[in-house]
Amino acid sequence: MVLLLSSVSVSSALTQSEIEAIVVWAGCEGATIQLMKEGHLGAWFDPSSIHLIFQGLDQVSDPIQVGIVLHETAHCLQDQQGILHFPTDPQQEKDADRIAVIKGCEWGISPTWMPELGTWFAENQNYFGDRSHGSFADRIAHALMDLPEICKWLLE
Ligand SMILES: [Zn+2]
Repeated sequence: MVLLLSSVSVSSALTQSEIEAIVVWAGCEGATIQLMKEGHLGAWFDPSSIHLIFQGLDQVSDPIQVGIVLHETAHCLQDQQGILHFPTDPQQEKDADRIAVIKGCEWGISPTWMPELGTWFAENQNYFGDRSHGSFADRIAHALMDLPEICKWLLE
């Protein structure tokens, strides 16, 4: 049974040091990372302590994990620019998605992680959006609109 259970996971979770490397590379300064393996897929940025918290990342593919890390990193960048406010609103979330998609292209992952995450949430958590984030469909449309060249070659 133990062997069977260990084969359930579809991908390996990013390690603490891999996440830290992405966060620092993307320009978020002084952050601490907290990883939680159990529970629903989720991620948060706490501006009071510059804390990035990730939960259940191993449930999604590696590119989606990088995308989620970059989305929370984008909130850190918004905070560094003094434009982050809580609770977040859909425009701020869309901007964070946009930053995450473009930085993801620079990191080498295709923008397709964003619609794939939307599909994953719909199928696994029956989640399509909420009041502070807006609808996932809107977020995807905004994130993929007029992408820079660095993203386009990844889509070919
Ligand atoms: Zn967010």
